[in-house]
Amino acid sequence: MKWSLKELYTGFDSKEFREDFESLDSQIEYFSNWANENLENMDTPKEKLEEYINSSIELSKKFSRLMSFASLINSVEAKNEESLQYLDKLAVKYNGLTKANVQFKKFIKNIDNLDEIIGSSPLLKEHEFFLKEIKKASKYMLSEKEEILIAKMSNTGSRAWSNLQNMLASTLMVDIEIDGEQVQLPLPVVRNMAYDKDPEVRKKAYEAEQNSYKKIEESSAASLNGIKGEVLTTSELRGFESPLEETLFNSRMDEKTLDAMLTAMKEFLPTFQRYFRKKAELLGHENGLPFYDIFAPMGEVNRSFTYEEAMNYIIENFRTFSDRLADYTQNAYDKNWLDIEPREGKRGGAFCSNLHVIGESRILSNFNGSFSNMTTLAHELGHGYHGFNLKDESVLNAGYPMPIAETASIFCETIVVNAALKEASDEEALSILESSISDAAQVIVDIMSRYIFETELFERRKTHPLSVNEFKEIMIQAQKEAYGNGLDPHVLHPYMWINKTHYYSAGRNFYNFPYAFGLLFSKGLYAEYLKRGEDFVSEYDELLNATGKNNIKDVAMRMDIDVNNPEFFRNSLRLIEKDIQKFIELASK
Ligand SMILES: [Zn+2]
Repeated sequence: MKWSLKELYTGFDSKEFREDFESLDSQIEYFSNWANENLENMDTPKEKLEEYINSSIELSKKFSRLMSFASLINSVEAKNEESLQYLDKLAVKYNGLTKANVQFKKFIKNIDNLDEIIGSSPLLKEHEFFLKEIKKASKYMLSEKEEILIAKMSNTGSRAWSNLQNMLASTLMVDIEIDGEQVQLPLPVVRNMAYDKDPEVRKKAYEAEQNSYKKIEESSAASLNGIKGEVLTTSELRGFESPLEETLFNSRMDEKTLDAMLTAMKEFLPTFQRYFRKKAELLGHENGLPFYDIFAPMGEVNRSFTYEEAMNYIIENFRTFSDRLADYTQNAYDKNWLDIEPREGKRGGAFCSNLHVIGESRILSNFNGSFSNMTTLAHELGHGYHGFNLKDESVLNAGYPMPIAETASIFCETIVVNAALKEASDEEALSILESSISDAAQVIVDIMSRYIFETELFERRKTHPLSVNEFKEIMIQAQKEAYGNGLDPHVLHPYMWINKTHYYSAGRNFYNFPYAFGLLFSKGLYAEYLKRGEDFVSEYDELLNATGKNNIKDVAMRMDIDVNNPEFFRNSLRLIEKDIQKFIELASK
């Protein structure tokens, strides 16, 4: 089953695509000229704000329609050269808007009576959050010259370091013995062996992986020192207290919320450690789980689905939540919004792309009929349903930050997993539970170790570049703190800092806690649903609708949820704790 894209364009050579693409240049030129002429003085601010909003909406609609079409084609036809060329050309055109946007930030920074002006215009009132976010961000903006200088220097600084690390890690070959023969395999292939059924393979792959990092440890350390050093410099120049404060700002999240979440997470670490010890015991280890067995598969679910069966199963269970969710899914199915089977040239994994411009979504999967493929579909449909709840909003009110991006998806996944658990045999239930706990443990426990590691890394980098041994030491220390006695202290992973690409992106500091927030926020909402039942449903839709024009605290407040209180996160963690107890029970049978 292939998805239908004709709702965007019928092809790159269609009249509509070419007209839209060709009209961009003059539209961007008009916008830039307008900014040059109007944003350098403060006359008639209301009219200028309105003009900016209207132009931004027009440009954003056109760009997203063109870019979505090119990137969706590209995701199923890797060799389609036209799609790559258009993506490139569109990115360059998009950069043409930078100067006007910086000018606007400066303009809005200098408006003292912004509230009053917003109050005088329905259009501005509708975009109040959007405008105020720009005003807030303008506080951290440097002069135009400095901004351009930083952007240019980062091409030869952090971006160059990132490219180096990326190249080293993606071309790293691992020496490993397979069937008595010494061979070289790419790193991802060897890391995938962590999921192998054979314990010998898992252990051997881990040892080979560890040895291979020695070849790139010095250059990786230099890259990481370079990138994090630059982050500290720019973040301080902009007036942030720390890179963490900058990340929180970009995530629309309060420090208090982060503290509340971390407090609850720490309290529940021993619960996860019990799960790891039980898994270790089942696999025959006495001293906790060795790192190489964290992903060891436990049992199998013998259920398989055709695409049609999977969709019917999902729709049926979604209907227990609400008709609106089930009807959305039925419509997506009927109208061919999904691209299902793997085929040559199609990318791996799964994603959902929300096409606000036409009020629809498209979902890509690599469905082979397994139980976990079915739950992945439910997950992606949840993303689509989030977009569905935003479709009548202005496009400028339809974007949401990373910590709440997984709210609807995990919620929908939970609905079908819970339904499946009810009808599963003991053996199947054990396997379903284990894989869901294992996912949660990554997002709570491993994320905690990454958070501890990155905090310590920034602290030390303030005074000196870290040595390879320092990086390894603080990683081991962080893993010990997070995993406790759950893991075998002699078989940890000192090189995780080479492995996670987020550390090497200057724009993605602390790209860890948003994952934990996403999971716990979604589970917390599910706990509320179990408590409130029917009443919850319409409030939930309104909450999704509000995600594009509120900070996180206010989104949650709509449902009387206080995310600055650790108790909210504890309730979510208690749901996972229940699963862990059930897993231990089943495993002890
Ligand atoms: Zn997702």
